[in-house]
This record gives sequence, C-alpha cells and structure tokens, in this order.
Amino acid sequence: MLIAKTIAEVRAAVAKLRSEGKCIGLVPTMGALHEGHLSLVQAAKAHCSAVVATIFVNPAQFAPGEDFAKYPRTFEADCAALEREGVDVVFAPEAEEMYPPGATTVVEVDPIQDRLDGRSRPGHFRGVATVVAKLFNIVEPNHAFFGQKDAAQVAVLRRMVRDLNFNLELVVCPTVREPDGLAMSSRNRYLSAEERQSALVLSRALRRVADRIAAGVVDSAELIDTGLAVMAEEPEIRLDYFSIVDPETLEDVDDVSEGALIAVAAVVGPARLIDNVVIAPL
Ligand code: AMP
Repeated sequence: MLIAKTIAEVRAAVAKLRSEGKCIGLVPTMGALHEGHLSLVQAAKAHCSAVVATIFVNPAQFAPGEDFAKYPRTFEADCAALEREGVDVVFAPEAEEMYPPGATTVVEVDPIQDRLDGRSRPGHFRGVATVVAKLFNIVEPNHAFFGQKDAAQVAVLRRMVRDLNFNLELVVCPTVREPDGLAMSSRNRYLSAEERQSALVLSRALRRVADRIAAGVVDSAELIDTGLAVMAEEPEIRLDYFSIVDPETLEDVDDVSEGALIAVAAVVGPARLIDNVVIAPL
C-alpha cells in the first residue's frame, strides 16, 4: 500500500493503476477509522479494481470553536486497517498541500448547504464540497463512496456532482451501528460511559418513529412529536434538530408517503452526534 503525501504522488500512483486498466474507487475520510469507514472500503473493493482512501482532517469544514484541534488523529492504526482491507493507495496530505497560500476558490451548494447540519454549522458544507471537489479532481475516481450516516452531506455532494458534471458515480453505503444501535462515529470517542448511554436516545427516537410509520402514521408533525418525546427522555442532551425532509433537497415534507429522510442531531457532552433513517415511498 502506497502512502502518498503530495498531490503529485497520488496522481502518479493513480495514473499507473489506470494504465493497468484499473477502475478507481475513492473513499474520502478524516481518519480515526472505525467499521463504518471500513464498510465503505469494502464496498469500494467490491465495485472497483483499485481503491484510493484519503485521510485528511479538513480545516475548511470546521468553524472556529469546533473540534478541529482535538479531532482524533490515529494515522498509524488507520493505515494498518486500510492495508488489511487491501487499499492500494492512501492519500494523506498536509493542509498546506490542499490549501496553498492564496487558495480562495470554494464550492457553494445553495441552498442545500444551509439545511440540517448546515444551518447549525455555517460554512461546514462549503468546506466539505470544496475539499471533495478537489479530491475528485486530484484522483478522478470512477466511483466515490460515502456513508448514509452523513445524509445531508450525501445530498450536498449528489447535487454538486450533478451540477458540476463530475464524471463519476456516487455510491452511498448504509450506516454501520454498534450492537446497541449507536451509529458509529469518530466522535463517539469523546463520550464517557454515561454519555454513551445517553447517546442511544438518537437511534431509539428514530426507531420509534420508523415503527409508527410501519404502523401507518404518515403525518410529519405527528411523527416529529413522537421523536421529540423520545429525545426528551434524556434531558441533559441538547437537541439541535429532529427533522423529516426530502432526502434530495433537505426541505421539510408534510408527510412521509413519498419517502423521506428522518434526521436527528444532538450535542451529548462534548460531542455533536447525528443519525438518520431513510423511509422508502409507501
Ligand atoms: P468522516 O471520517 O467522518 O468524514 O467520514 C468519512 C466517510 O465515512 C463519510 O462518507 C461518512 O459518511 C462515512 N461514515 C462515517 N460513519 C459511518 C457509519 N457509521 N456508517 C457508514 N458510513 C460512515
């Protein structure tokens, strides 16, 4: 497995793979890898004959006061895990390589970038879209793999790929959970044992709402009330949103009969956590 630190190195490695007729799968990450990330690598291995994973804690997607400085960095363990999964190339640039002095061009995905997490994290999706566009231009993958866990990110990136004509297919992989339902996240490391227990309320609220939909309830207001009631079982966590939206536009929908994304975000101790379920058209 080659570890490339520069754009020139990763481009040379990808050019060689392509000259061998390989189909390239890209898995962008910020490292601190867990089974959720590795499921994307496994999907990429299944779809593509070569896999490039990236590890880059992207400063542009963190607002001042967010957890950029303390975001977990476990580079050696990450590389060992990626090597075990059979990744061909890891691209792990320094911030200066991605953003040399004077780099000012950004990608704005209006108005989706300001919905859900974008509303509470202004500028976050501009940072995400910009770095992912750069990674697409650097690696030129045939397929790029993202997790459904970050549903708003998926909506932003789908729209970007469509609007800017990126010549690749986005593949969205299901959310990987701990046995007790907690969605895996690098930020789960921030939680104490007690906070981790409280954090289960996110998946519990989503499950309860999904159960009500299965029982025939379609009205969003009623379903949101159910979700909020479950979230209130853990009064010490701070709810950011509990929303029922169109998965493509992230706009609120009045009922779920044509399919919907049910998404929740909450601050649990030091961690801002998100989770969601997708409801298929009834
Ligand atoms: P991150 O390192 O948090 O930027 O995540 C990198 C990629 O892994 C993104 O596409 C995430 O959506 C995906 N991912 C993170 N957690 C999970 C999970 N629990 N299940 C599936 N994919 C995930």
